[in-house]
Amino acid sequence: TQTGTAQIGVTGLAVMGRNLARNFARNGYTVAVHNRSWAKTASLVEDHGDEGTFVPSESVEDFVASLERPRKIVVMVKAGAATDAVIDELVPLLEEGDIVVDAGNAHFPDTVRRENALRAQGLHFVGSGVSGGEEGALLGPSIMPGGTRESYESLGPILEKISAKVDGVPCCTYVGPDGAGHFVKMVHNGIEYADMQLIAEAYDLLKQGLGASAAEIGQIFADWNTGDLESFLIEITADVLQHVDAETGSAFVDIVLDQAEQKGTGRWTVQNGLDLGVPITGIAEATFARALSGGVPQREAAVGTLPAATTPWEITDRDAFVEDVRLALYASKVVAYSQGFDQIAAASAQFGWDIDRGAMARIWRGGCIIRARFLNRITEAYERDANLPLLLADPYFTGAVGNGVEAWRRIVSGAALHGVPTPAFSSSLAYYDGVRAERLPAALIQAQRDFFGAHTYRRTDREGTFHTLWSGDR
Ligand code: NAP
Repeated sequence: TQTGTAQIGVTGLAVMGRNLARNFARNGYTVAVHNRSWAKTASLVEDHGDEGTFVPSESVEDFVASLERPRKIVVMVKAGAATDAVIDELVPLLEEGDIVVDAGNAHFPDTVRRENALRAQGLHFVGSGVSGGEEGALLGPSIMPGGTRESYESLGPILEKISAKVDGVPCCTYVGPDGAGHFVKMVHNGIEYADMQLIAEAYDLLKQGLGASAAEIGQIFADWNTGDLESFLIEITADVLQHVDAETGSAFVDIVLDQAEQKGTGRWTVQNGLDLGVPITGIAEATFARALSGGVPQREAAVGTLPAATTPWEITDRDAFVEDVRLALYASKVVAYSQGFDQIAAASAQFGWDIDRGAMARIWRGGCIIRARFLNRITEAYERDANLPLLLADPYFTGAVGNGVEAWRRIVSGAALHGVPTPAFSSSLAYYDGVRAERLPAALIQAQRDFFGAHTYRRTDREGTFHTLWSGDR
């Protein structure tokens, strides 16, 4: 097979692939570019050919031949069948040691399957999470590559070079074998769902509690963005809330239909949480809250029909209320992240991935949607103890969350009394109280299970498994 001079190749030149290819070129790499249909390749070279060195090819054969060995090919096409189609076309043209990177949003079991298939043919398959959308792809995304360590030796430096940097540290590191990279990207997206839902609930509390306008609430978020909550999502929330609809002159958020959509990574995260038996209640509530918002027939049947039995929320100290919401938001957010990191730990153990959770927090500090100041605190927590069983129990977080517990209770109880739906705030507090409880009513559940199904139980006072003969009790 012929070899060429391109150091990296990108096939699939829609918004993401095009910007990734430009990012490689801007960083000085010679980039082989290819797309199923020629138009996207042509327009990339025409519009941005001056940004670096592109080697365009119309056929897959020429594309493969234009790359130096071992070839490094980034596939950036529609996730699912398209990815398989592209891999099937590439594989017969590749040689031992070549590296195929799937940078799309693949579901991790697909990545495990593809990695196995390519490994059997002497090829490296790297399922890599790429976060940050269009802009991240161009200016520096957060990159979560899986696959073999060997593949990372030659591929890693290139990916690190084009990734986002925070304090000079690349937002890219080796994650773990086969599906680990895409798994971590999936959890990243799940956490993103939880973070967005929590922010939305905080907005609703401020709106209903204070009767504040969108612009006023936007200002509150802008203030919050100067403290512990500083993050991309808080920052854009401030901007979104202060945005005025050009057509009507109303606050933009007030003219948007209140039915949230999803592409499915939140659902995958929740399904996996159930498979692994990890309570990721923040992510689950966030995913279900989107589903509830889109449940039009149910909402139509309920609105104005279900009795509310609430009283108006009379807030006397506005600043104290705002601070309570801020503390409750921060505490709930820590719970959601703590749960997400538990999910990563559980999958890592289940699949033998050996994922370094502190390193994951580090590569999420820049480039991606959940980038935030407090990720530094998470990295530090796992540096203190790599096997930390519960992020919430790290001394920094027990302090930071502990300070806000009273505020959290005031907000969640107030929301319940006044009929403001706060599924993520409330379930996070319930999780917090559950996980810190000395004794849980799970004892009763075990007793019930033994009663009706002879499922047995363990005792607090001695070892072993027991079954009680319940027949005399009824
Ligand atoms: P996309 O709309 O998901 O996919 C379009 C690209 O896929 C085009 O290049 C198209 O080629 C190609 N394609 C579709 N079916 C194909 C097939 N059977 N064979 C070969 N090529 C095929 O593109 P995107 O929005 O740039 O996203 C690319 C990937 O990145 C996806 O997996 C997406 O989930 C992931 N991602 C996207 C974002 C984002 O913000 N958009 C963020 C992170 C990750 P033609 O031009 O010939 O149709």
